[in-house]
Amino acid sequence: TPSPIATAAVTPMMEQFIEIKAANPDSLLFYRMGDFYELFFDDAEKASRALGIVLTKRGKHQGHDIPMCGVPVHAADDYLQKLIGQGFRVAVCEQIEDPAEAKKRGSKSVVRRDVVRLVTPGTITEDKLLAPSESSFLMALGRVKGGAEHSFAIAWIEISTGTFRVAETTADRLLADVFRVDPRELIVAEPVFYDPELKPIFDVLGRVASPQPPSLFDSASATGRIARFFEVATPDSFGAFSRAELSAISGAIAYVEKTQKAERPPLSRPEREEQGSTLFIDPATRANLELLRTLSGSREGSLFKAIDRTVTGGGARLLADRLMAPLTDPAAITARLDSVSFFRSETRLCQVVRASLKSVADMPRALSRLALNRGGPRDLGALRAGFEAAEAIAGIFAATALPGELAAALEAIKALPRPLSAHLTQALGEELPLLKRDGGFIRGGYHGELDEMRALRDESRKVIAGLERSLIDETGIRSLKIRHNNVLGYYIEVTANHHAIMTGSDGAKARFIHRQTMANAMRFTTTELAELETKIANAADRALSIELAAFDTLTAEAVGEAQKIRAGAEALSVLDVSAALALLSESEAWCRPIVDGGLAFEISGGRHPVVEQALRRSGEGPFVANDCDLSPEGGAKNGAIWLLTGPNMGGKSTFLRQNALIAILAQTGSFVPASSAHIGVVDRLFSRVGASDDLARGRSTFMVEMVETAAILNQAGERALVILDEIGRGTATFDGLSIAWAAVEYLHEKNRCRAIFATHFHEMTSLAGKLPRLHNVTMRVKEWEGDVVFLHEVGKGAADRSYGVQVARLAGLPEAVVGRAKEVLHQLEEGEVSGKANRLVDDLPLFSVALKREAPKPVKNDALGAALGEINPDEMTPREALDALYRLKGLA
Ligand code: ADP
Repeated sequence: TPSPIATAAVTPMMEQFIEIKAANPDSLLFYRMGDFYELFFDDAEKASRALGIVLTKRGKHQGHDIPMCGVPVHAADDYLQKLIGQGFRVAVCEQIEDPAEAKKRGSKSVVRRDVVRLVTPGTITEDKLLAPSESSFLMALGRVKGGAEHSFAIAWIEISTGTFRVAETTADRLLADVFRVDPRELIVAEPVFYDPELKPIFDVLGRVASPQPPSLFDSASATGRIARFFEVATPDSFGAFSRAELSAISGAIAYVEKTQKAERPPLSRPEREEQGSTLFIDPATRANLELLRTLSGSREGSLFKAIDRTVTGGGARLLADRLMAPLTDPAAITARLDSVSFFRSETRLCQVVRASLKSVADMPRALSRLALNRGGPRDLGALRAGFEAAEAIAGIFAATALPGELAAALEAIKALPRPLSAHLTQALGEELPLLKRDGGFIRGGYHGELDEMRALRDESRKVIAGLERSLIDETGIRSLKIRHNNVLGYYIEVTANHHAIMTGSDGAKARFIHRQTMANAMRFTTTELAELETKIANAADRALSIELAAFDTLTAEAVGEAQKIRAGAEALSVLDVSAALALLSESEAWCRPIVDGGLAFEISGGRHPVVEQALRRSGEGPFVANDCDLSPEGGAKNGAIWLLTGPNMGGKSTFLRQNALIAILAQTGSFVPASSAHIGVVDRLFSRVGASDDLARGRSTFMVEMVETAAILNQAGERALVILDEIGRGTATFDGLSIAWAAVEYLHEKNRCRAIFATHFHEMTSLAGKLPRLHNVTMRVKEWEGDVVFLHEVGKGAADRSYGVQVARLAGLPEAVVGRAKEVLHQLEEGEVSGKANRLVDDLPLFSVALKREAPKPVKNDALGAALGEINPDEMTPREALDALYRLKGLA
């Protein structure tokens, strides 16, 4: 099809459409026509597929039908949600003048239209499009040249709540930082987006990342842009930002301006996050530990789901944010733990506060909608409910001494604007309509004239009822009705068989002015009715305009107090999270961890929170608690490594993960699933567990495993915690064993970090004799009548065998296969293989794993061998390769 843009001779409307579409090439264009948003051309085809709506056509363009589909305006939110969910961006194009105006310019003139808003995944504010307990961040990446290196920064905002943060980053940790914040949308300047070195990063992020014009990110003009947005003379007072940070902040603001057009969300001033203030968790680890979502993408089964006991949307979002970015400063962690301890010991206060919090509505999101001119009476109602709850909560704590974090929260709650609160209480009615144009949300007694107009309107309605009665008496038609519709206004209706009574030329009948004849009815009016109607309409109009003015006043007042409202709402979220964690720790019997600046890692009675809850639900018996101690011992400067062996299904992965999760929970400021825990702050958490092929499509499992292992060995320092599961599984036994072997040596000698290393290579347990900080532990099992029973208990020592055959039997492999496998195993154990492996241990000096690779098997046919030797597959075209194959076949 020809490009629609390169056309002349089209209808004026199509011309307008094409022009607007050309300015918004990346978005589906919702083009307003009457009560519908219509989509045309490619947009129509994409949208009809994505939404499952009918594709029709409208007129012709250059001899071809124009594909079209449309969605009704009143249901647009639902369709937007579906499209945004599928990664589309939508440009909403409205009529920006009264059609009457267009007519004045000439009969062919089209109504002026323009895009009033770009709806993108990271910039939505509608309640319907947002999950209450999930944040919805937009992130901008800034990159500037500083000397020989590039420096990077990220800024992330949530338009629906006003959050605005910024942090420096590097190319190496960029992906980890993106996954930490988990934005819906990442915008990147075009030259950065298309930089081949960064391409793999944006490939992983897929549709989340999008290229934008570099002008948005210009660091030189950034200060001006930031100052204008926040209406200050200079942004210096916000703090000192690096050039990369300015670029990222500018990008975020410019994109907000681009997508929101005339409206301005009440963003907080950008808050700087120090690098290293949060626990670094690499992307693979984050995905594998299933913090917010499981690997399959659902919230069910995630750590968050297992620990969330919050009662407000804001609280759930704060908990998720904290879980995604655990702290590294022991003092800050202790402050959070103090809050949880407080509620844990004050159980009654905890209950009372939670009861009050339940009536807190989502204040920041309501406020943002109001500021963006998308708000309604219920958003004002949300603020009112929040203020009321805040007041009740302030009262609850009136006579209580609070720990630091909670005391600060209480101050912010007390600082919520009282005049606004009082104003809302006085002005708003009880039942609030969704849309302000429906009216009826201002309380009676608030505004004198409004009350008068309402009385007039209601009075006239009574008069109409009276009129109906007297008309029935006058005409004797018992079924006569006075009705109302939008076309005729008020009218008198009688059934068709009564029409003779109404029509005629005598004096009484002449009063009835005929308006409409229907199949079974006739409709009339009278001068009296018309006058009444005008009176009602005028009163209603006037009442509505008074209500709308009051709405605007209240909105402006609320937006003016944005900063205090947000701070108060954040404080309520802090209470919610602390109380929820206290409740959790009590019901799940969790303990308060000691978190300090040392290198201890001493967990007793540790459990996996998700597995434990799942086992309880399914009634599969209790979770077996296990200790873990990686603390430095006997004068050692560094933490220890546990080498964990045991059969498949023994509980190795569960144990590895539970210790990582305990570290994360502790540094989040939560109690932990253990009977006691002492953790020296972890600065980086690495893991290699399970397969994460979906993170790096196109690479083999083994390759992914090696890339991830390489990242760990290259980056982990002595404060890191490393969790490695079954390294080397994806390749031949000796390859795998030697890689695992060398990795453990390297961890012990070079990284010197705390680590747990699970392996099925029993040969490795002999390493404990050589490496002083390496300890062997094993998942205990019992053998019972030839079957294996898993005890899920971690004990000192090494597993003597892997029970693979028994596990296979449990899995339902046919008896014949199990029996034969036992025979084979027996022979192998007697024979050479095990001997070879044992020798390995004695022969091998540190860092010189030098297993000989097996030489390629000699080829029997010499001519064939020679021909094969000449072939260099890397330098052949597919065609040449095929020819070569035929040649070789001929030689065989
Ligand atoms: P492995 O990694 O050794 O193959 P997993 O950690 O996957 O074993 O555990 C296998 C199953 O055993 C889990 O699904 C869980 O149901 C159960 N399990 C693991 N650890 C425990 C435990 N400590 N207590 C009770 N059951 C456990």
